[in-house]
Amino acid sequence: MRAAVWHGYKDIRIEDAPVPVPAAGQVRVRVDWAGICGTDRHEYEGPNFIPVTRPHRLTGRVAPLILGHEFSGRISALGDGVTGWQVGDRVTANGTLSCGVCEACRSGRYNVCQKLGFLGVSTDGAFADEVVVSAERLFAIPDGVSQRDAVLCEPLACGIHATNLLGDLTGKDAVVLGPGIIGLSAFFAAKAAGARRVLVTGVGEHRRALIEQHGGVYVDTAEVDAVEAVERWSEGRLADVVYECIGLQSTLDQAVRATKPGGRIMVMGVFGKKPVVDMNTLQEAERVIMTSQAHVDEIATALERLRSGDIDASELITRTVTLDTLVQDGFEHLIAHGPEHIKVLIHINEEA
Ligand SMILES: [Zn+2]
Ligand SMILES: [Zn+2]
Repeated sequence: MRAAVWHGYKDIRIEDAPVPVPAAGQVRVRVDWAGICGTDRHEYEGPNFIPVTRPHRLTGRVAPLILGHEFSGRISALGDGVTGWQVGDRVTANGTLSCGVCEACRSGRYNVCQKLGFLGVSTDGAFADEVVVSAERLFAIPDGVSQRDAVLCEPLACGIHATNLLGDLTGKDAVVLGPGIIGLSAFFAAKAAGARRVLVTGVGEHRRALIEQHGGVYVDTAEVDAVEAVERWSEGRLADVVYECIGLQSTLDQAVRATKPGGRIMVMGVFGKKPVVDMNTLQEAERVIMTSQAHVDEIATALERLRSGDIDASELITRTVTLDTLVQDGFEHLIAHGPEHIKVLIHINEEA
């Protein structure tokens, strides 16, 4: 089968790989579509999380590995003991890999497993004709959601999970720093959780129309200071909740300063460099920093929001490439034109 194999920094090769065999409790899925995630871009550009020398604590794997965790496909083989699923079922999956025995796993929070791993990072992923996943992590794609659109459920689930951690946002003012797919997932989730108003910041004008069309306020931070904009927008009250969806020192600082006394900062960005936290500003008003790691079962909610039309995947898919053109048309294109794009999909096989 064809596969996009990560050999190292800026070294992704489209190669022939053996078709994986599902172990007990696993299924094999013929991949129709996959999505390039910000984390995949990190793997390409660095810093990478794929283990290079020390084998992964859960899977024992090191590079080379097949990339990819956002995908849709059809079940092509069942491992021993798998019940409730049939060959041909249209599915997507949560790419979280967990041990099943630690305290977090036993309490249902497998997304913070002590040995946490991820499909396409800690074991072979979905940028290939076939991928093997645990049947426990499968989700059926509902009628009315296409194979293409279903890929969006994974990043959308990240925003829903972070928002579930925050709880009811009814009547609250939320700010989202960063208008990429994760920021947009937080934007849609905050609105669905009852937020009264949502302000999104970003550099440039690419996202303004989309955000305004969905009832949000957009601020271009190339023109206006983010914290001043939040002050004006909230008439000096600041935000109840700020989602940090970039992972930079500057946006973390903005998040702390744009949060009202007693308010909460939800960190979703992945930091390339260890940031300094402005503890005094946090502490002077009992502001709280929370973090969010992927999602648990929120893919089901995300699929339902795609099915109901609450979220239109077509608005979020900005480019389609193939496996053969993934490096040049996908990764290199994203490096040159990143801010123009929300989600770049890979069309791997024709859906039946
Ligand atoms: Zn992702
Ligand atoms: Zn565990």
